[in-house]
Amino acid sequence: MNDDKGRPDLRINGERLVSSIKEMGSIGFDPETGGRTRLALSDADKKGRDLLCRWMHEEGLDVKIDQIGNIFGVREGTDPSELPVMVGSHIDTVRDAGMFDGVYGVFGGLEVIRTLNENKVRTRKPLALAAFTNEEGARFQPDMMGSLFYTGTVGLEELLSSKDENGLTAADELDRIGYRGSGTVRAGRYIELHIEQGPRLYAEGLPIGVVRGIQGLAWWAGEYCGESNHAGSTPMDMRKDALLGVAELAAEAEKLALRLGNGSVATMGKISPKPDIINIIPGKCSFTLDFRQFEKSLFEEGKGEIERLITACAEKRGLKYNFRKVAEAPAVVFDSGMVELAERVSARLGLASKRMVSGASHDAQFLSPFCPTVMIFVPSKDGRSHCPEEWTEAEDLENGCNVLLHSVLELV
Ligand SMILES: [Zn+2]
Repeated sequence: MNDDKGRPDLRINGERLVSSIKEMGSIGFDPETGGRTRLALSDADKKGRDLLCRWMHEEGLDVKIDQIGNIFGVREGTDPSELPVMVGSHIDTVRDAGMFDGVYGVFGGLEVIRTLNENKVRTRKPLALAAFTNEEGARFQPDMMGSLFYTGTVGLEELLSSKDENGLTAADELDRIGYRGSGTVRAGRYIELHIEQGPRLYAEGLPIGVVRGIQGLAWWAGEYCGESNHAGSTPMDMRKDALLGVAELAAEAEKLALRLGNGSVATMGKISPKPDIINIIPGKCSFTLDFRQFEKSLFEEGKGEIERLITACAEKRGLKYNFRKVAEAPAVVFDSGMVELAERVSARLGLASKRMVSGASHDAQFLSPFCPTVMIFVPSKDGRSHCPEEWTEAEDLENGCNVLLHSVLELV
């Protein structure tokens, strides 16, 4: 059977996809927590890598490992002068993870290749499957290590010298597990299939999210200083309570995000009052703030407002303050042609889709300035992720993978 363009009207094998994801999910599995742990460059990560490489070889792919341990498997095209279309994600996990984050994108790509192989489909461009090293950053920082190196965003030496909490370097661990290579594969385009890790698709009952970009992020760390004093003998109107100032700042940051709307989110994730004792007014309180927004003008407005609020909430209570921005990453906007392609393919397959912005970071954000990129999301039950409860229904996994297959077929 052919589609209206004469392409074979293929479908991936949903059962094979799910069983591959489950097999990877058994590596590093802890029956007590119900989660699995494959921290980057650990023994469990090595086992996962070995499984992926074995399956890549079984599909006849040319497997290449680069200097940071990224794994690429290339399926030849008929025109060797063309750059490959790359699909992929990561196979490392956080502690006690679910089985879909990252693995879905890698094994979704593998399932596309298996489908092309069993149907003997030849393509003009090569197709490359990628698994990027240490996406999660749960053991070595920075996160996204593989894609940072691959796109030349951060230098190799800096990444390899990163140490885990036991003082082991990424370089030594890469050597120990045998995944420091010297090959590479350049991508012409990149598609990353991923679970949403948020609640929107599941809540709206939509099978496909076409991701138009990743929101901008800014982080601050600050401290308010007042006066520690006796909780019983200091009247309310004579206090300089640093924690109350920070509490008000947290509430104001929430109001700001709600006022700006359009997906703005603000979070005070960390508060440390001092001296942190039941009967002493907190004289000092440190805090962090995280603000995210996709639209540039709203991002700029929100950042300015956050800094104004940090000052205003301290001054209102006569508190001294200091703060600094500790991270900032502008929004990433994916290639409009790639976004339209994924939407068109979803519609052709009879799958309702929604354009969305990713709340989480992904390797795709670093690939995006490097080559035309898009991400395809499928629903996460109740929006849960990075926990053993992370779940996506088999039907949704199959649908997303079919969108990947047909997006790839249009590009290769
Ligand atoms: Zn991921």
